Amino acid sequence: MKLLSVIVPCYNEEENVPYFYEELKKQEAFFHEKDVELEIIYVDDGSKDGTVAEVRRLHEQDERVHLVSFSRNFGKEAGIYAGLSKAKGDFAVLMDADLQDPPALLPEMYSYLEQGYDAVATRRVSRKGEPPIRSFFARMFYRLMRKISKTEIVDGARDYRLMTRQVVDAILSMREYNRFTKGIFGWVGFQTKWLEYENIERVKGETKWSFWKLFIYSLEGIMAFSTAPLALASVLGVLFCFLALVLILVIVIRTLIFGDPTSGWPSMVCIISLLGGVQLLCIGIVGQYLSKTYMEVKRRPIYLVKEEL
Ligand code: UDP
Ligand code: MG
Repeated sequence: MKLLSVIVPCYNEEENVPYFYEELKKQEAFFHEKDVELEIIYVDDGSKDGTVAEVRRLHEQDERVHLVSFSRNFGKEAGIYAGLSKAKGDFAVLMDADLQDPPALLPEMYSYLEQGYDAVATRRVSRKGEPPIRSFFARMFYRLMRKISKTEIVDGARDYRLMTRQVVDAILSMREYNRFTKGIFGWVGFQTKWLEYENIERVKGETKWSFWKLFIYSLEGIMAFSTAPLALASVLGVLFCFLALVLILVIVIRTLIFGDPTSGWPSMVCIISLLGGVQLLCIGIVGQYLSKTYMEVKRRPIYLVKEEL
């Protein structure tokens, strides 16, 4: 008998917790036939509603339902790490509580593991039901990432992912504090099968991601998996040195030929503000990396548990 751990990070999902359980149960028959047992690990990410109570109720009915409850909201990335740490399964799958990751896809995903893949990942091919501006920035982000990061980060990839114990252990071995899971999946590698499906809108409740939160998150992703911005200062430095050299030559030659008319105050102001801006930008970038390093060096725990079932 094998065990499949289903990991569900939940933040204020009281309506979805039981609903998810019911939907997942529909896949039980398939896995029973394959001699695979299920365990469900709900990770409560410091919810302020009745999420914990709902999971407790399910745990009383069904001992295969487990709970890890955080002391506060640590973010979905921490939830994923906690769930994977608690998982005892030979396989583990990450799923959202809002049923945007359809459980009906599980049998197909599992069949690929049987064929020898180490992981089965999903990506959505459409961004139906999403504001156009958000889709636009998302596309830009992935395009930029492809250029500046060596780690492969797939456009539209969801966290819905089924993996073997080997992959789970690889992910758990990455103990960094600033966790950008999409990058971590790419970084660990392994043979991954990609499945595609149309975007499904969440059933109940609303998304926790505002545009601004997503924007900040994308910057985190860039910093976690690329050091290209750090090179920006050097590149701009070389560029401006070259430009300055050309300008000096032009001015010297012009002075020799036409004499020295004293002017050029406006151009001076422009140059000073441009260079001042560029310098501040570069220091800012260095500062961002420094602050990330500072947080890593503190070695704080990724999450704190308040209750476990
Ligand atoms: N989530 C979480 N902690 C958070 C935010 C979200 O555990 O701080 C969970 C949430 O409960 C859901 C999943 O992560 O199960 C995806 O969140 P959401 O549906 O809000 O994101 P979206 O699908 O819009 O990207
Ligand atoms: Mg969702």
